[in-house]
Amino acid sequence: MKFVSTRGGGDPVGFFEAFANGLAPDGGLYLPQNLPLLSSDLIIDDALPYPALAWDFLSLFDTDHDADDLISLVDRSYGSFSDTMNAPLTQLAHNIFVLELFHGPTLAFKDFGLQLVGNLFEDQIERTGKSINVLGATSGDTGSAAIHGLANKKGVHCFILYPKGRISALQERQMTCTGAKNIFPIPIEGTFDDAQTIVKELMSDLALKNKLRLSAVNSINIVRVLAQAIYYVHAFMQLPPDDRDNVRFVVPTGNFGNIFAGWMAHQMGLPVDQFTVATNQNDILHRFFTNGAYKAASVKPSHAPSMDIQVASNFERFLYYHNEKDPRTTTKMIKKFQKDGALKIPKFNRGNFSSTASSNEDILANIRKVKEDYDYIVDPHTACGFQEIVPDKTNIILATAHPAKFPEVIKRAIGETPTDDSLEALRKKRQKRYAVEASADGVREFLEKHAG
Ligand SMILES: *Cc1c(COP(=O)(O)O)cnc(C)c1O
Repeated sequence: MKFVSTRGGGDPVGFFEAFANGLAPDGGLYLPQNLPLLSSDLIIDDALPYPALAWDFLSLFDTDHDADDLISLVDRSYGSFSDTMNAPLTQLAHNIFVLELFHGPTLAFKDFGLQLVGNLFEDQIERTGKSINVLGATSGDTGSAAIHGLANKKGVHCFILYPKGRISALQERQMTCTGAKNIFPIPIEGTFDDAQTIVKELMSDLALKNKLRLSAVNSINIVRVLAQAIYYVHAFMQLPPDDRDNVRFVVPTGNFGNIFAGWMAHQMGLPVDQFTVATNQNDILHRFFTNGAYKAASVKPSHAPSMDIQVASNFERFLYYHNEKDPRTTTKMIKKFQKDGALKIPKFNRGNFSSTASSNEDILANIRKVKEDYDYIVDPHTACGFQEIVPDKTNIILATAHPAKFPEVIKRAIGETPTDDSLEALRKKRQKRYAVEASADGVREFLEKHAG
Protein backbone atom coordinates (compact mmCIF):
# COMPACT_ATOMS: atom_id res chain seq x y z
CA MET A 1 0.00 0.00 0.00
CA LYS A 2 1.26 3.48 -0.90
CA PHE A 3 0.32 6.85 0.52
CA VAL A 4 -0.06 10.12 -1.40
CA SER A 5 -0.11 13.76 -0.32
CA THR A 6 -3.34 15.77 -0.47
CA ARG A 7 -1.29 18.36 -2.36
CA GLY A 8 0.03 15.95 -4.95
CA GLY A 9 3.78 16.60 -4.47
CA GLY A 10 6.42 13.87 -4.55
CA ASP A 11 6.12 10.18 -5.29
CA PRO A 12 3.77 7.93 -3.34
CA VAL A 13 5.49 6.52 -0.23
CA GLY A 14 5.17 3.34 1.80
CA PHE A 15 3.90 2.95 5.37
CA PHE A 16 7.28 3.43 7.08
CA GLU A 17 7.92 6.66 5.25
CA ALA A 18 4.41 8.10 5.64
CA PHE A 19 4.60 7.36 9.35
CA ALA A 20 8.10 8.80 9.78
CA ASN A 21 7.34 11.98 7.82
CA GLY A 22 4.04 12.81 9.50
CA LEU A 23 3.44 15.83 7.27
CA ALA A 24 4.20 15.23 3.57
CA PRO A 25 7.22 17.22 2.28
CA ASP A 26 4.92 19.45 0.18
CA GLY A 27 2.99 20.49 3.30
CA GLY A 28 0.04 18.22 2.53
CA LEU A 29 -1.37 15.30 4.51
CA TYR A 30 -0.92 11.66 3.62
CA LEU A 31 -3.81 9.48 2.54
CA PRO A 32 -3.88 5.91 1.24
CA GLN A 33 -3.51 5.95 -2.55
CA ASN A 34 -6.57 3.70 -2.76
CA LEU A 35 -8.90 2.71 0.02
CA PRO A 36 -9.08 -1.09 0.28
CA LEU A 37 -12.47 -2.67 0.90
CA LEU A 38 -13.17 -4.35 4.23
CA SER A 39 -13.91 -8.02 3.87
CA SER A 40 -17.57 -8.74 4.54
CA ASP A 41 -16.60 -11.13 7.41
CA LEU A 42 -15.28 -8.19 9.34
CA ILE A 43 -18.54 -6.40 9.06
CA ILE A 44 -21.00 -9.20 9.79
CA ASP A 45 -19.08 -11.26 12.36
CA ASP A 46 -19.46 -10.98 16.09
CA ALA A 47 -16.82 -8.75 17.59
CA LEU A 48 -13.28 -10.09 17.27
CA PRO A 49 -10.87 -9.41 20.13
CA TYR A 50 -9.69 -5.85 19.59
CA PRO A 51 -6.01 -6.64 18.84
CA ALA A 52 -7.05 -9.26 16.26
CA LEU A 53 -9.32 -6.80 14.48
CA ALA A 54 -6.64 -4.12 14.68
CA TRP A 55 -4.16 -6.43 13.01
CA ASP A 56 -6.63 -7.41 10.27
CA PHE A 57 -7.34 -3.77 9.58
CA LEU A 58 -3.81 -2.38 9.79
CA SER A 59 -2.30 -5.10 7.64
CA LEU A 60 -4.34 -3.69 4.74
CA PHE A 61 -2.29 -0.49 4.99
CA ASP A 62 1.01 -1.51 6.57
CA THR A 63 2.60 -3.74 3.98
CA ASP A 64 6.09 -2.80 5.19
CA HIS A 65 6.19 -4.80 8.45
CA ASP A 66 6.32 -8.58 8.61
CA ALA A 67 3.09 -10.09 9.87
CA ASP A 68 4.70 -11.19 13.16
CA ASP A 69 6.15 -7.76 13.83
CA LEU A 70 2.83 -6.08 13.22
CA ILE A 71 1.08 -8.54 15.53
CA SER A 72 3.58 -7.79 18.26
CA LEU A 73 3.19 -4.00 17.78
CA VAL A 74 -0.57 -4.24 17.96
CA ASP A 75 -0.48 -6.48 21.05
CA ARG A 76 1.85 -4.12 22.86
CA SER A 77 -0.35 -1.15 21.94
CA TYR A 78 -3.75 -2.57 22.86
CA GLY A 79 -2.93 -5.29 25.37
CA SER A 80 -2.86 -3.06 28.46
CA PHE A 81 -6.21 -1.29 28.30
CA SER A 82 -8.24 -1.50 31.50
CA ASP A 83 -11.25 -3.02 29.72
CA THR A 84 -10.69 -6.27 27.86
CA MET A 85 -12.98 -5.09 25.05
CA ASN A 86 -10.73 -1.98 24.68
CA ALA A 87 -13.67 -0.04 23.24
CA PRO A 88 -16.84 -1.48 24.80
CA LEU A 89 -20.23 -0.47 23.44
CA THR A 90 -22.66 0.34 26.25
CA GLN A 91 -26.38 0.47 25.59
CA LEU A 92 -28.30 3.32 27.27
CA ALA A 93 -31.67 2.96 25.53
CA HIS A 94 -33.13 0.92 22.69
CA ASN A 95 -31.55 3.16 20.04
CA ILE A 96 -28.77 4.86 22.02
CA PHE A 97 -25.31 3.37 22.51
CA VAL A 98 -22.12 4.84 23.91
CA LEU A 99 -18.78 3.72 22.49
CA GLU A 100 -16.43 4.03 25.48
CA LEU A 101 -13.04 5.10 24.21
CA PHE A 102 -11.58 6.00 27.61
CA HIS A 103 -10.11 2.74 28.87
CA GLY A 104 -6.53 3.41 27.75
CA PRO A 105 -3.70 4.72 29.95
CA THR A 106 -4.71 8.43 29.77
CA LEU A 107 -8.47 7.84 29.76
CA ALA A 108 -9.16 9.44 26.37
CA PHE A 109 -9.64 8.10 22.85
CA LYS A 110 -6.28 9.45 21.73
CA ASP A 111 -4.61 6.47 23.42
CA PHE A 112 -5.84 4.33 20.51
CA GLY A 113 -3.69 6.28 18.06
CA LEU A 114 -0.81 7.20 20.28
CA GLN A 115 -0.09 3.90 21.98
CA LEU A 116 0.48 2.52 18.49
CA VAL A 117 2.47 5.59 17.43
CA GLY A 118 4.76 5.26 20.48
CA ASN A 119 5.52 1.64 19.66
CA LEU A 120 6.02 2.47 15.98
CA PHE A 121 8.58 5.13 16.88
CA GLU A 122 10.48 2.64 19.01
CA ASP A 123 10.31 0.13 16.17
CA GLN A 124 11.56 2.74 13.70
CA ILE A 125 14.51 3.68 15.93
CA GLU A 126 15.50 0.04 16.27
CA ARG A 127 15.20 -0.48 12.53
CA THR A 128 17.11 2.63 11.45
CA GLY A 129 19.46 3.12 14.41
CA LYS A 130 18.55 6.82 14.43
CA SER A 131 17.16 8.63 17.45
CA ILE A 132 14.33 11.13 16.95
CA ASN A 133 12.75 14.18 18.56
CA VAL A 134 9.00 14.32 18.66
CA LEU A 135 7.31 17.71 18.57
CA GLY A 136 3.59 18.26 19.03
CA ALA A 137 0.95 20.71 20.19
CA THR A 138 -1.98 19.72 22.33
CA SER A 139 -5.29 21.06 23.52
CA GLY A 140 -4.98 18.61 26.42
CA ASP A 141 -5.53 14.98 25.61
CA THR A 142 -3.16 14.53 22.66
CA GLY A 143 -0.21 15.62 24.72
CA SER A 144 -0.86 13.29 27.60
CA ALA A 145 -1.62 10.38 25.29
CA ALA A 146 1.56 11.07 23.28
CA ILE A 147 3.61 11.37 26.42
CA HIS A 148 2.26 8.09 27.75
CA GLY A 149 3.00 6.47 24.39
CA LEU A 150 6.60 7.73 24.46
CA ALA A 151 7.69 8.01 28.10
CA ASN A 152 11.00 6.18 28.70
CA LYS A 153 11.13 4.84 25.13
CA LYS A 154 14.75 4.56 24.01
CA GLY A 155 16.02 7.08 21.47
CA VAL A 156 13.03 9.45 21.69
CA HIS A 157 12.83 12.94 23.18
CA CYS A 158 9.32 14.32 23.28
CA PHE A 159 8.41 18.04 23.32
CA ILE A 160 4.76 18.93 23.83
CA LEU A 161 3.40 22.49 23.67
CA TYR A 162 0.09 23.29 25.34
CA PRO A 163 -1.90 26.47 26.03
CA LYS A 164 -1.10 27.57 29.57
CA GLY A 165 -4.13 27.62 31.87
CA ARG A 166 -6.48 26.31 29.16
CA ILE A 167 -6.30 22.61 29.86
CA SER A 168 -7.64 20.90 32.97
CA ALA A 169 -5.37 20.51 36.00
CA LEU A 170 -5.51 16.73 35.67
CA GLN A 171 -4.69 16.81 31.97
CA GLU A 172 -1.65 18.91 32.84
CA ARG A 173 -0.62 16.50 35.59
CA GLN A 174 -0.84 13.58 33.18
CA MET A 175 1.85 15.32 31.13
CA THR A 176 4.03 16.79 33.84
CA CYS A 177 4.08 13.96 36.41
CA THR A 178 5.50 11.04 34.42
CA GLY A 179 8.95 11.39 35.93
CA ALA A 180 10.38 10.39 32.53
CA LYS A 181 13.59 12.20 31.54
CA ASN A 182 12.79 12.14 27.82
CA ILE A 183 9.58 14.15 28.22
CA PHE A 184 9.43 17.98 27.95
CA PRO A 185 6.00 19.55 28.59
CA ILE A 186 5.98 23.23 27.53
CA PRO A 187 3.15 25.60 28.58
CA ILE A 188 2.69 28.42 26.02
CA GLU A 189 0.93 31.78 26.53
CA GLY A 190 -2.00 31.73 24.07
CA THR A 191 -4.48 29.28 22.61
CA PHE A 192 -4.09 25.79 21.19
CA ASP A 193 -4.07 27.28 17.69
CA ASP A 194 -1.11 29.48 18.69
CA ALA A 195 0.79 26.43 19.91
CA GLN A 196 -0.16 24.50 16.77
CA THR A 197 1.03 27.38 14.57
CA ILE A 198 4.45 27.31 16.21
CA VAL A 199 4.72 23.56 15.67
CA LYS A 200 3.65 23.87 12.03
CA GLU A 201 6.19 26.62 11.40
CA LEU A 202 9.04 24.60 12.92
CA MET A 203 7.97 21.45 11.09
CA SER A 204 7.97 23.27 7.75
CA ASP A 205 11.57 24.41 8.36
CA LEU A 206 13.15 21.48 6.53
CA ALA A 207 16.69 22.31 7.61
CA LEU A 208 15.68 22.20 11.27
CA LYS A 209 13.50 19.16 10.74
CA ASN A 210 16.38 17.22 9.21
CA LYS A 211 18.98 18.41 11.66
CA LEU A 212 16.97 17.45 14.74
CA ARG A 213 15.19 14.50 13.10
CA LEU A 214 11.87 16.03 14.12
CA SER A 215 8.76 13.89 14.01
CA ALA A 216 5.19 15.03 14.47
CA VAL A 217 2.70 13.55 16.86
CA ASN A 218 -0.40 15.69 16.35
CA SER A 219 -3.45 14.29 14.66
CA ILE A 220 -2.07 14.75 11.14
CA ASN A 221 -0.11 11.50 11.24
CA ILE A 222 -1.96 9.05 9.00
CA VAL A 223 -1.27 6.21 11.45
CA ARG A 224 -3.46 7.88 14.05
CA VAL A 225 -6.30 8.13 11.57
CA LEU A 226 -5.92 4.47 10.61
CA ALA A 227 -5.77 3.36 14.25
CA GLN A 228 -8.93 5.32 15.02
CA ALA A 229 -10.86 3.81 12.14
CA ILE A 230 -10.63 0.40 13.78
CA TYR A 231 -12.98 1.08 16.68
CA TYR A 232 -15.78 2.12 14.33
CA VAL A 233 -15.65 -1.35 12.82
CA HIS A 234 -15.40 -2.88 16.27
CA ALA A 235 -18.42 -0.85 17.45
CA PHE A 236 -20.47 -2.02 14.50
CA MET A 237 -19.54 -5.64 15.25
CA GLN A 238 -20.77 -5.22 18.83
CA LEU A 239 -24.22 -4.02 17.76
CA PRO A 240 -27.07 -6.51 18.11
CA PRO A 241 -27.85 -7.71 14.55
CA ASP A 242 -31.28 -6.02 14.61
CA ASP A 243 -29.72 -2.62 15.26
CA ARG A 244 -27.32 -2.57 12.33
CA ASP A 245 -29.50 -0.52 9.98
CA ASN A 246 -29.50 3.27 9.97
CA VAL A 247 -26.39 3.52 12.09
CA ARG A 248 -25.49 7.04 13.11
CA PHE A 249 -22.10 7.80 14.67
CA VAL A 250 -21.97 11.01 16.70
CA VAL A 251 -18.45 12.27 17.22
CA PRO A 252 -17.35 15.07 19.57
CA THR A 253 -15.09 16.93 17.15
CA GLY A 254 -12.19 19.39 17.20
CA ASN A 255 -9.43 18.65 14.71
CA PHE A 256 -11.71 16.38 12.67
CA GLY A 257 -9.33 13.42 13.05
CA ASN A 258 -11.63 11.06 14.88
CA ILE A 259 -14.71 11.52 12.72
CA PHE A 260 -12.64 11.45 9.54
CA ALA A 261 -11.31 8.05 10.58
CA GLY A 262 -14.87 6.74 10.87
CA TRP A 263 -15.80 8.21 7.54
CA MET A 264 -12.82 6.43 5.99
CA ALA A 265 -14.01 3.11 7.44
CA HIS A 266 -17.36 3.88 5.81
CA GLN A 267 -15.65 4.48 2.45
CA MET A 268 -14.10 1.04 2.93
CA GLY A 269 -17.55 -0.52 3.18
CA LEU A 270 -18.73 -0.10 6.78
CA PRO A 271 -22.48 0.50 6.45
CA VAL A 272 -23.13 3.82 8.19
CA ASP A 273 -26.07 6.10 7.52
CA GLN A 274 -24.86 9.29 9.13
CA PHE A 275 -21.84 10.91 10.76
CA THR A 276 -22.63 13.80 13.06
CA VAL A 277 -19.92 16.34 13.83
CA ALA A 278 -20.64 17.48 17.40
CA THR A 279 -18.81 20.72 18.23
CA ASN A 280 -18.81 22.97 21.28
CA GLN A 281 -19.24 26.75 20.95
CA ASN A 282 -16.18 26.79 18.68
CA ASP A 283 -18.40 25.83 15.82
CA ILE A 284 -16.45 26.42 12.59
CA LEU A 285 -17.19 22.86 11.47
CA HIS A 286 -20.86 23.10 12.42
CA ARG A 287 -21.15 26.26 10.34
CA PHE A 288 -19.28 24.57 7.53
CA PHE A 289 -21.52 21.51 7.44
CA THR A 290 -24.53 23.81 7.55
CA ASN A 291 -23.67 26.08 4.63
CA GLY A 292 -20.37 25.07 3.04
CA ALA A 293 -18.52 28.18 4.26
CA TYR A 294 -15.36 27.48 6.24
CA LYS A 295 -14.53 30.61 8.18
CA ALA A 296 -12.25 30.84 11.20
CA ALA A 297 -13.26 32.89 14.24
CA SER A 298 -11.32 33.41 17.44
CA VAL A 299 -11.24 30.53 19.89
CA LYS A 300 -13.56 30.83 22.88
CA PRO A 301 -12.43 28.64 25.82
CA SER A 302 -15.22 26.18 26.63
CA HIS A 303 -16.14 23.39 29.06
CA ALA A 304 -14.87 20.93 26.44
CA PRO A 305 -11.30 22.25 26.03
CA SER A 306 -9.97 19.48 23.79
CA MET A 307 -12.35 20.77 21.14
CA ASP A 308 -11.42 24.47 21.50
CA ILE A 309 -10.16 24.61 17.96
CA GLN A 310 -10.99 26.76 14.97
CA VAL A 311 -8.62 25.47 12.33
CA ALA A 312 -9.22 21.71 12.09
CA SER A 313 -5.97 20.16 10.91
CA ASN A 314 -7.61 17.10 9.32
CA PHE A 315 -10.08 19.15 7.32
CA GLU A 316 -7.71 19.11 4.34
CA ARG A 317 -8.25 15.36 4.08
CA PHE A 318 -12.00 15.86 3.78
CA LEU A 319 -11.48 18.58 1.18
CA TYR A 320 -9.29 16.27 -0.89
CA TYR A 321 -12.05 13.69 -1.16
CA HIS A 322 -14.68 16.39 -1.68
CA ASN A 323 -12.55 17.59 -4.60
CA GLU A 324 -12.60 14.05 -5.98
CA LYS A 325 -8.95 13.47 -5.05
CA ASP A 326 -7.76 16.44 -7.08
CA PRO A 327 -4.62 17.75 -5.33
CA ARG A 328 -4.44 20.97 -7.38
CA THR A 329 -7.87 22.20 -6.40
CA THR A 330 -7.22 21.12 -2.81
CA THR A 331 -3.93 23.04 -2.68
CA LYS A 332 -5.60 26.14 -4.12
CA MET A 333 -8.37 26.01 -1.55
CA ILE A 334 -6.02 25.52 1.38
CA LYS A 335 -3.81 28.40 0.20
CA LYS A 336 -6.86 30.59 -0.10
CA PHE A 337 -7.98 29.68 3.40
CA GLN A 338 -4.50 30.35 4.78
CA LYS A 339 -4.51 33.78 3.13
CA ASP A 340 -8.09 34.93 3.87
CA GLY A 341 -9.13 32.84 6.89
CA ALA A 342 -12.24 31.91 4.93
CA LEU A 343 -13.26 29.57 2.17
CA LYS A 344 -16.53 28.95 0.39
CA ILE A 345 -16.72 25.53 -1.24
CA PRO A 346 -18.42 25.63 -4.63
CA LYS A 347 -21.06 22.90 -5.13
CA PHE A 348 -20.72 21.85 -1.51
CA ASN A 349 -22.11 18.39 -0.85
CA ARG A 350 -22.27 17.38 2.80
CA GLY A 351 -22.79 13.74 1.87
CA ASN A 352 -23.77 11.79 4.97
CA PHE A 353 -22.38 14.33 7.41
CA SER A 354 -24.56 16.37 9.73
CA SER A 355 -23.55 18.60 12.63
CA THR A 356 -24.51 20.14 15.95
CA ALA A 357 -23.00 22.78 18.24
CA SER A 358 -23.29 22.89 22.04
CA SER A 359 -22.93 26.00 24.18
CA ASN A 360 -21.47 25.68 27.67
CA GLU A 361 -25.02 25.71 29.02
CA ASP A 362 -25.94 22.89 26.64
CA ILE A 363 -22.96 20.87 27.86
CA LEU A 364 -24.08 21.17 31.48
CA ALA A 365 -27.70 20.41 30.57
CA ASN A 366 -26.69 17.36 28.53
CA ILE A 367 -24.55 15.93 31.35
CA ARG A 368 -27.53 16.39 33.68
CA LYS A 369 -30.01 14.84 31.27
CA VAL A 370 -27.89 11.77 30.53
CA LYS A 371 -27.44 11.22 34.26
CA GLU A 372 -31.16 11.62 34.95
CA ASP A 373 -32.42 9.58 32.01
CA TYR A 374 -29.85 6.76 31.94
CA ASP A 375 -27.93 6.99 35.22
CA TYR A 376 -24.72 7.39 33.22
CA ILE A 377 -22.08 10.11 33.52
CA VAL A 378 -20.55 11.60 30.38
CA ASP A 379 -17.55 13.93 30.23
CA PRO A 380 -18.08 17.46 28.78
CA HIS A 381 -16.82 16.47 25.30
CA THR A 382 -19.06 13.44 25.10
CA ALA A 383 -21.92 15.63 26.35
CA CYS A 384 -21.75 17.55 23.05
CA GLY A 385 -22.63 14.27 21.35
CA PHE A 386 -25.95 14.20 23.18
CA GLN A 387 -27.13 17.52 21.70
CA GLU A 388 -29.47 15.72 19.36
CA ILE A 389 -30.67 12.09 19.28
CA VAL A 390 -32.29 10.97 16.04
CA PRO A 391 -35.26 8.73 16.97
CA ASP A 392 -35.33 6.48 13.89
CA LYS A 393 -31.60 5.73 13.84
CA THR A 394 -29.22 3.61 15.89
CA ASN A 395 -27.31 6.40 17.61
CA ILE A 396 -23.75 5.56 18.65
CA ILE A 397 -22.21 8.41 20.63
CA LEU A 398 -18.43 8.25 20.93
CA ALA A 399 -17.37 8.81 24.57
CA THR A 400 -14.02 10.46 23.93
CA ALA A 401 -12.84 10.92 27.54
CA HIS A 402 -13.50 9.60 31.04
CA PRO A 403 -15.62 12.00 33.11
CA ALA A 404 -13.08 11.90 35.97
CA LYS A 405 -10.72 13.96 33.79
CA PHE A 406 -13.07 16.95 34.11
CA PRO A 407 -14.35 16.87 37.71
CA GLU A 408 -15.10 20.62 37.98
CA VAL A 409 -17.56 20.69 35.09
CA ILE A 410 -19.26 17.45 36.13
CA LYS A 411 -19.65 18.77 39.65
CA ARG A 412 -21.30 21.92 38.33
CA ALA A 413 -23.69 19.86 36.26
CA ILE A 414 -24.76 17.14 38.69
CA GLY A 415 -23.21 18.00 42.05
CA GLU A 416 -20.93 14.98 42.24
CA THR A 417 -17.34 14.35 41.19
CA PRO A 418 -16.48 11.14 39.42
CA THR A 419 -13.05 9.79 40.37
CA ASP A 420 -10.50 7.41 38.94
CA ASP A 421 -7.67 5.84 40.95
CA SER A 422 -4.97 6.44 38.35
CA LEU A 423 -5.88 10.14 38.26
CA GLU A 424 -6.05 10.49 42.04
CA ALA A 425 -2.53 9.09 42.31
CA LEU A 426 -1.27 11.95 40.09
CA ARG A 427 -2.31 14.59 42.59
CA LYS A 428 0.51 13.54 44.88
CA LYS A 429 3.29 13.59 42.29
CA ARG A 430 5.76 16.38 41.46
CA GLN A 431 5.20 18.33 38.25
CA LYS A 432 7.96 19.09 35.78
CA ARG A 433 7.46 21.61 32.97
CA TYR A 434 9.60 24.04 31.01
CA ALA A 435 9.05 27.80 30.57
CA VAL A 436 9.66 28.81 26.95
CA GLU A 437 8.81 32.01 25.06
CA ALA A 438 5.66 31.58 22.96
CA SER A 439 7.23 32.00 19.52
CA ALA A 440 8.72 29.76 16.86
CA ASP A 441 12.16 31.24 17.66
CA GLY A 442 11.75 30.65 21.38
CA VAL A 443 10.79 27.03 20.87
CA ARG A 444 13.48 26.50 18.22
CA GLU A 445 16.13 27.65 20.68
CA PHE A 446 14.80 25.32 23.37
CA LEU A 447 14.79 22.38 20.97
CA GLU A 448 18.36 23.03 19.84
CA LYS A 449 19.41 22.94 23.47
CA HIS A 450 17.48 19.88 24.68
CA ALA A 451 17.05 17.65 21.64
CA GLY A 452 18.49 14.15 21.85
C1 LIG B 1 -9.09 15.37 20.91
C2 LIG B 1 -10.42 15.23 21.53
C3 LIG B 1 -11.59 15.50 20.80
C4 LIG B 1 -11.55 15.97 19.38
O1 LIG B 1 -11.09 14.98 18.50
P1 LIG B 1 -10.60 15.37 17.02
O2 LIG B 1 -10.03 14.14 16.45
O3 LIG B 1 -9.57 16.45 17.22
O4 LIG B 1 -11.78 15.88 16.28
C5 LIG B 1 -12.79 15.27 21.43
N1 LIG B 1 -12.88 14.87 22.71
C6 LIG B 1 -11.77 14.63 23.45
C7 LIG B 1 -11.92 14.20 24.87
C8 LIG B 1 -10.51 14.79 22.89
O5 LIG B 1 -9.42 14.54 23.61
